[in-house]
Amino acid sequence: MMKTDTIVNVMSVDVEDYHDQLALDFQDRIVPPAEEAVRATDRVLELLAECRVQATFFILGEIAEHFPDLVRRIAAQGHHLGIHGYYHLHIYRQSPPQFRQSIERAKKLVEDIAGRTADAHRAVAFSIVESTLWALDILVDLGFKYDSSIYPFQGRRYGIPAGSRGLYQYRAADGRTLWELPMSTVTWLGRRWPVCGGGYLRHFPLWLTDSAFRRLHAEGLPAVVYLHPYEVITDPVIEPLPGMGLKQRLSYAFFNYHQRLWRKHTLSKLRRLFSRYPFSTIEQVVADLTSDPAARS
Ligand SMILES: [Zn+2]
Repeated sequence: MMKTDTIVNVMSVDVEDYHDQLALDFQDRIVPPAEEAVRATDRVLELLAECRVQATFFILGEIAEHFPDLVRRIAAQGHHLGIHGYYHLHIYRQSPPQFRQSIERAKKLVEDIAGRTADAHRAVAFSIVESTLWALDILVDLGFKYDSSIYPFQGRRYGIPAGSRGLYQYRAADGRTLWELPMSTVTWLGRRWPVCGGGYLRHFPLWLTDSAFRRLHAEGLPAVVYLHPYEVITDPVIEPLPGMGLKQRLSYAFFNYHQRLWRKHTLSKLRRLFSRYPFSTIEQVVADLTSDPAARS
């Protein structure tokens, strides 16, 4: 199929490990990221190279610390670099000084390894919500130019229900700015639904994602696709965590079942989207949108 669409969409990857998130979310323990994160991210890099797509990679500091060669490979393919926190800790579990320190540390580490700037940020689990909007001022202060962390819908764990659905410029108290590119939502049956990334992309059939793309484009909005590398690992080895009681084991099993569902279709779904629509980095998409005044509203 020809790529006739003129709106360029965002491809983004949140580089993190599935297993250390389980330890953190279920037992509040920080454990080193598993090697599987490298295997998964390399598979994503291969797909992007094969489809000639440039993406923005939001990298966790701990991934850069344990796997610096992976950061070098991402940079060597010319992808746009960003930060996803140091550990996979939600912002609302951190004080402003803790958040600043963790982001500053991750940014410096990724930039030192890659030898170039990492000027985009995506909050862990979209945890820039109304009570943590202070995080944007810290990001401006640390020199970030782009943020893509706000989910403008009523989520169970995240979201700003009345947030802007399109690109806008956030202005800090001192007048400095950054571009906020919210996650994609479409309105169906009178409410906003998340559509283009992670579990939503994985669970929805392709025709539904396609229809969401067309609706976004009709409004002049790019689709913001995000992927976690572990979503391409179809045979994850998921060990039970030590000392779990029966109730926790059940919720752990349910969580893992849900997270593994449809993983075997992730790569083929992305490949088909890449063949139908143009994609690029947040840096490029913001440049495209802001050079066209009609797309700025
Ligand atoms: Zn994440």
